[in-house]
Amino acid sequence: MTKKPILILVGTTEGRHLAYQASRRPDVEAIASLAGRTRQPDPPIANTRFGGFGGVSGLRDYLQAQRIEAVIDATHPFAAQISNHAVLAAREAGVPHLRLSRPPWQSQPGDCWLEVSSNAEAAERLPEVAQRVFLTIGRQELATFASLQQLWFLMRMIDPPHEGTSIPPGKILLARGPFSLEDERSLLQTYQIGAIVSKNSGGEATYAKLVAARELRIPVVMVQRPRMPEMETVDDIHQALDWLDGL
Ligand code: NAP
Repeated sequence: MTKKPILILVGTTEGRHLAYQASRRPDVEAIASLAGRTRQPDPPIANTRFGGFGGVSGLRDYLQAQRIEAVIDATHPFAAQISNHAVLAAREAGVPHLRLSRPPWQSQPGDCWLEVSSNAEAAERLPEVAQRVFLTIGRQELATFASLQQLWFLMRMIDPPHEGTSIPPGKILLARGPFSLEDERSLLQTYQIGAIVSKNSGGEATYAKLVAARELRIPVVMVQRPRMPEMETVDDIHQALDWLDGL
């Protein structure tokens, strides 16, 4: 059987699992593409390429050169640039395109969320919310909070910040989810956290901090997702595999 080459843009746990599941199918040759920012993708995936394509035209050329028959964008909900590039490049190359994106978290009774549109707005609002902050936005935008010298931050991320990055005062915690409710509760209490800053990433792995915040009545400054263009989107791996079947 001739295998259809498909490109999966990976940047989330679901993306890695989708790439793994697709690679086991007899009709598909799945190529997983990673930006290459995280040092060690976990779990490791076979048939992987790393690094950018060189914008929309670079990705379009890649799709044509590799005779890719479908693109699934399974990058993070906050990775707006690659998602925009993917939908445009697929359109230009005439290749079917699907986005796999987990649903955003919704606030529940008892939550105290302050919804903001960006990390910059989160930084602007923080001084009126708390003095000691649990910052869970990853390492890429730490500098946005660096001017808040009067606050103290517990900053959690998978890999350490790049050398020379300006960071706010506080402590760096290197850890990869999933995180348990018990551990999140204990972290918030040990560090006497007065507010959490989180992106609305959705998913189970990092949800426990929001439950702990609800229990302890700690406010959450929740950064909303960036706007994306209209595109066919599914929210779980099974639907993405069904879409592949329908090609
Ligand atoms: P971004 O701003 O949307 O993308 C920046 C550039 O990185 C893209 O234009 C593209 O370069 C390259 N790129 C991104 N994802 C790629 C992929 N899967 N394969 C090949 N090239 C890719 O993305 P970002 O926010 O910097 O995030 C980088 C990666 O980390 C993404 O894959 C994302 O899923 C993952 N991630 C992001 C976040 C977040 O909060 N932003 C959180 C967790 C994981 P070219 O233009 O040269 O093609």
